[in-house]
Amino acid sequence: MTADAGLATRWPTIVKQPAAVPPHLADYDATCAEFRWDDARRALNGLPGGGLNIAHEAVGRHAAGPLRDREALRFVRADGSTRSYSYAELDGRSARFAGVLRDLGVQPGDRVFSLLGRSPDLYVAVLGTLRYGSVFCPLFSAFGPEPVRQRLHLGGGRVLLTTRAYYRKKVAPVRDQLPALEHVLLVDGPAEPGTLDLAELMAAAEPETEIARTRPDDLALLHFTSGTTGTPKGAMHVHEAVVAHWATGLYALDLHPGDVYWCTADPGWVTGMSYGIIAPLVHGVTAVVDEEEMDADRWYSILAEQHVTVWYTAPTALRMLMRAGTERARAHDLSALRFVASVGEPLNPEVVVWGQEAWGLPVHDNWWQTETGGIMIANFVAADIRPGSMGRPIPGIEAALVARDDDGDPIVRDGAAVLVTDPELEGELALRPGWPSMFRGYLNEEERYRRCFVGGWYLTGDLARRDADGWFWFVGRGDDVIKSAGHLIGPFEVESSLMEHDAVAEAGAIGVPDPVAGQVVKAFVQLRRGVEPTDELRLDILGFARKRLGPAVAPREIAFAENLPKTRSGKILRRLLRARELGLPEGDLSTLEAPR
Ligand code: AMP
Repeated sequence: MTADAGLATRWPTIVKQPAAVPPHLADYDATCAEFRWDDARRALNGLPGGGLNIAHEAVGRHAAGPLRDREALRFVRADGSTRSYSYAELDGRSARFAGVLRDLGVQPGDRVFSLLGRSPDLYVAVLGTLRYGSVFCPLFSAFGPEPVRQRLHLGGGRVLLTTRAYYRKKVAPVRDQLPALEHVLLVDGPAEPGTLDLAELMAAAEPETEIARTRPDDLALLHFTSGTTGTPKGAMHVHEAVVAHWATGLYALDLHPGDVYWCTADPGWVTGMSYGIIAPLVHGVTAVVDEEEMDADRWYSILAEQHVTVWYTAPTALRMLMRAGTERARAHDLSALRFVASVGEPLNPEVVVWGQEAWGLPVHDNWWQTETGGIMIANFVAADIRPGSMGRPIPGIEAALVARDDDGDPIVRDGAAVLVTDPELEGELALRPGWPSMFRGYLNEEERYRRCFVGGWYLTGDLARRDADGWFWFVGRGDDVIKSAGHLIGPFEVESSLMEHDAVAEAGAIGVPDPVAGQVVKAFVQLRRGVEPTDELRLDILGFARKRLGPAVAPREIAFAENLPKTRSGKILRRLLRARELGLPEGDLSTLEAPR
């Protein structure tokens, strides 16, 4: 093998020592050669009498077996105290939630939404909904009223679980625009007009003992993600995704019986669902859930006091920890920790290496996206790490780079995509379709879904390189989508909200570099004729956007522009805004992300 294959040579390869716990993936090439998805399918037991249901694989079968009393979820409250649910208890509560859905007349296939923090109710509702055969769609609780309204509307949500405060602030004002929304269940009752008290319904409901006999291809989860244009996209996922969650939990996260596993992602996003709930439960391990927000000392206390063995987190959080300093890490006993992985945004090689200095373990970057449903490319526990690389495809996944023309379109010849093989060249990261957690469509947008598949490949929208030994290196997004603190933000959504302000004629939103969040949203605003660009107005527009969009999506900065650069057809040229912002030559946009 060539060392680093000429990429990121500043960072020498981290050579691994044999792990204390024998890894599930000890020999990468041999496992890849042997692996068959059908074997993974057989490793799960399926419903007695046929059918595949995520809730059965994650909880039901454990509750009926030797893991019945094993701690499934351990919630860490604000004061550091914990509340645990065994597999049997989780099964019982989710059966009761399924009973609530039944009593409300909800049908299998109907969509149940949540707008909740990481409280036990959320986890019970996810599992109860899947058990009942309805479709779960989590919304991130830091969304403002507009993203909430839009997603509930697009997804045709029939049931929503939320808190009293979120309901008043984010749902009640737009409820009349959501005719499909029949039942709003408050988790912190008592109910108020137009809502129901979940605790009361749970107490009254007879548990639904049967688990819905869903087929592998039945819809289970809906995750909204952002594109460059148009409304958010509802990526549809099916029950069979659990096969990939199981396999990646094994190979990419190396979960073993007895592990205490902590995924810091919020279930409002796909990582928090696939790897904060499904994968650990399918493996019968204990999943830690922190009910609070990120704080360096709090996190170190959790790692130490909960004896976390496997930790799956994100670059923004890791950068914050690195800034907090190595001493902070060393003040805690992290001796239980044996594996650290990261996902969601580019992971700086400094952070990979710093992990070793701080807690004696490097960080294992991995790559995937909402559409893939599960980890696709990873650094493995027993494999050396090339800091800065996302790693190699997991067994069962074929990844390649598709060549793009000057307009950023994939090059196809005779029906086949042209692949980039030169390690010096970048291409669009592409995956051979057919893995179990692959999304099965964008809700109500068949054409948009079809366009993702070209010449036999699923195109991810990311640009990457692959070194001579098959390690993948992230280059950037191939479109205008913004990644801020791990959250994907559609510039169009930001621009549309800004344009609802009375003073705004047009807006263009881009991501600008930020040392902690990777990128933050900056908006360029063209004011209506005759409106004065004052600081007061800037603050007013910022406040307006924050109120509508919520802090997770709103721009951090606004600049007034007399004219926004546009294509001939009138689309805002975000690439040019970015080039100007970053001081890159405007004529040469080849290093920038091209719109698709
Ligand atoms: P999401 O669908 O919100 O999970 O976002 C997926 C996108 O996040 C990917 O298409 C990438 O652009 C980015 N991403 C995820 N993981 C990584 C990683 N390890 N390195 C760089 N970018 C990543």
